[in-house]
Amino acid sequence: MDIDHLTEITANELTAAQYFHGHKCPAMPQGLRAGHLAMDFLSVKRARGGSELQAIVEIGDHHFSGCFADGVQYATGCTFGKGNITKRGLGKFALTLIDPAAGRAVRVTAKYERMKMCLEMPFFEQRRQGIPPYALDPAVVDPLIDDVVNRQWRDMFEVQTFNHYPVEPARESFEAVECAECKEMVVLPYARELEEQRYCAVCYQARVFRGQASGI
Ligand SMILES: [Zn+2]
Ligand SMILES: [Zn+2]
Repeated sequence: MDIDHLTEITANELTAAQYFHGHKCPAMPQGLRAGHLAMDFLSVKRARGGSELQAIVEIGDHHFSGCFADGVQYATGCTFGKGNITKRGLGKFALTLIDPAAGRAVRVTAKYERMKMCLEMPFFEQRRQGIPPYALDPAVVDPLIDDVVNRQWRDMFEVQTFNHYPVEPARESFEAVECAECKEMVVLPYARELEEQRYCAVCYQARVFRGQASGI
């Protein structure tokens, strides 16, 4: 494929993704770029259901540029609700996108030097001082977003491709039971059985703990 001519981020996509994300920042569009780059490398379309693509992001919690993952979700259609995205919690800025039918995958990582350069810009200096991204001066944010949207991908990302990626098939469950204790619905593969009754994991653990506490 011609990797110099990739899917571009349109103004419409950027605006819609910013609405979904909640504010304007450079990390979310970086996720859009990474998502489209991965899809272009795999020659796949955005996921409509839960089994066409699988994504793995390596970000952790509460650190700069975690917004990357929202751009990835918006671009690829791999979302928390569909269950086709996993967060590894490594504190790294990488996306692995898997095409389960072809057994192929691509891992896109943000280049260290570029991320380091961004961290020294006024945007991150002000963020470090505790200013939320939505309260920043657009003059500080907008040029950075333009840069992320338009820069050559090779300046921003490293790409690894895998032609035989181990894929675990995801099966969707349509069965559910009533927890014998809290009476709430629990999806069958998550239900636990104890003395011929089915429980949600919370009630199951509480029962087992009570049993042990009273010496049963
Ligand atoms: Zn953000
Ligand atoms: Zn329960």
